[in-house]
Amino acid sequence: MKTKIADLEFTPLIKAKDIEERTKAMGLQLSEDYKDSIPVFVGVLNGSFLFIADLIKQIDIPCEITFTKLASYYGGTKSSLKIRDDIDFTVDIKGRDVVVIEDIVDTGNTAHYLLEKLKLKQPASIKLCSLLLKPSALLKKIDELKYVGFEIENEFVVGYGLDYKEMGRNLKDIYKRVK
Ligand code: 5GP
Ligand code: MG
Ligand code: MG
Repeated sequence: MKTKIADLEFTPLIKAKDIEERTKAMGLQLSEDYKDSIPVFVGVLNGSFLFIADLIKQIDIPCEITFTKLASYYGGTKSSLKIRDDIDFTVDIKGRDVVVIEDIVDTGNTAHYLLEKLKLKQPASIKLCSLLLKPSALLKKIDELKYVGFEIENEFVVGYGLDYKEMGRNLKDIYKRVK
């Protein structure tokens, strides 16, 4: 079923059931990989709020969760290449195993910016976990990107936390723009 958000039309791309299954598998994998430490998950708001919530419920080892807020899209459908740092977090990550949770890696600029910033705080290790990846849009190689939910084409998506002009975050499925 197509849906309209503001001036654009969208069509379903990934169903809620598939997101749920994939998130479960990622949670299991993270629980296994970090069973010998107490990792700190850093969720990147706003887009990943539903993914973070669903993923964290699938993690069955002791862990901490904190949040940061970055913005790069400013309501359009193209990455602005400029990153706005809206909220920082206060957890001391020095010597800790850190996993950054993102909604989507597009050009990779936001992830690169945040990872470099976090590395200055001297964590023991740092990995990136993203629900979505657009491999053909990547401008930077991100060695820390270890966990990816779905690889998608270079198209604009909304739903399950992701917005277009701040709308559509409440949709259960992920939709892509109809060209
Ligand atoms: P990057 O810096 O990798 O180009 O983009 C990162 C941020 O841009 C993501 O965290 C997300 O907030 C936003 N973004 C990238 N691609 C999309 C997309 O297809 N749809 C939406 N709604 N946001 C996107
Ligand atoms: Mg994001
Ligand atoms: Mg956005």
